[in-house]
Amino acid sequence: MARRPELLGLGRALLAAAAAASAAAETTTAAVQPYPLAVCLVSREPLGSAPRVVVHEGQEIKLCCGACLRRFERDPAFYLKRLRAAVGEGAQDGGR
Ligand SMILES: [Zn+2]
Repeated sequence: MARRPELLGLGRALLAAAAAASAAAETTTAAVQPYPLAVCLVSREPLGSAPRVVVHEGQEIKLCCGACLRRFERDPAFYLKRLRAAVGEGAQDGGR
């Protein structure tokens, strides 16, 4: 009975360490959110075997070809909104 608070304390210390580690990782490429779709964000075509990959504000984006990459770069905010909408369809959870 007296041991439980100790274990909880250890767990908390580990959680705090993990949180600190992930906070530190946010400034590196390790914190990139993986692209969640199987299709090109611009054309909605299948990505194929050699998609173009870019990282925009910590979000990995995959596109089927260079033309789509140029379109994405012209208006990344528009396509990021589309990506969030596509992801939100599967899991409507009150995030931001
Ligand atoms: Zn394309």
